[in-house]
Amino acid sequence: MRIDKFLHDQQYGSRSEIHELIKRRQVMVDGQPIKSFKVNIDPDVNAIQVSGQLVQVQAPFVYLLLNKPAGVITATHDETQATVMSLIASADLRKDLSPVGRLDKDTTGMLLLTNDGQLAHQLVSPRHHVQKTYRVTTTGQLTASQLDELEAGITLRDGSQVCADDCQLVEQQADHSIVLITLHQGKYHQIKRMIGYLGQRVTQLDRESFAGIQDSTLELGAYRALTAAEIEQLS
Ligand code: URA
Repeated sequence: MRIDKFLHDQQYGSRSEIHELIKRRQVMVDGQPIKSFKVNIDPDVNAIQVSGQLVQVQAPFVYLLLNKPAGVITATHDETQATVMSLIASADLRKDLSPVGRLDKDTTGMLLLTNDGQLAHQLVSPRHHVQKTYRVTTTGQLTASQLDELEAGITLRDGSQVCADDCQLVEQQADHSIVLITLHQGKYHQIKRMIGYLGQRVTQLDRESFAGIQDSTLELGAYRALTAAEIEQLS
């Protein structure tokens, strides 16, 4: 494995920060400072030091993508209600895992679970503007100008200013509409409150993507590990 990938996986910083450490001769392999980030190492054989400290190899983080069904709450533990954790079959996998952000009990869709606290924190931080796209079914017809209103920004009853990055009407019927709404904010019940502002209710809410991660082949209640490319895309 290349030394820069190894140190990145071990949380020694971004690739460019690691390249900088190597340039400053802060990375040693078997007692010798290395000059190139392309050096290959075997963590089971080589002793790696960064700034004089031996790197203790950490168990790799776990990153799961769950297609959350309705009826379970987004929590690690609850006295009375089933949580998303009850869907994770292996006790080993469940250990230390937490959901990234929150979906309502009746909301379905893409939910990440990880034990990488730093990445989870980054993904829910308002500063990082992570985009989420929701497929929203409402109780009646939504007009183009109402969707424009959501994109321009509205003020909810509690005074919070919210807006949609994008609204796409998918279906328009007398008794319902389906709209794809993309947001970068993550306020409490945000979609339901935005649709409530327009005088309607949400009858179905499904998160189709989170931070660019989506998988329409995952059955409700099923999960899979993120691919290396997806993890890279999130970091
Ligand atoms: N907005 C909501 O109203 N509910 C969710 O679960 C997610 C976004």
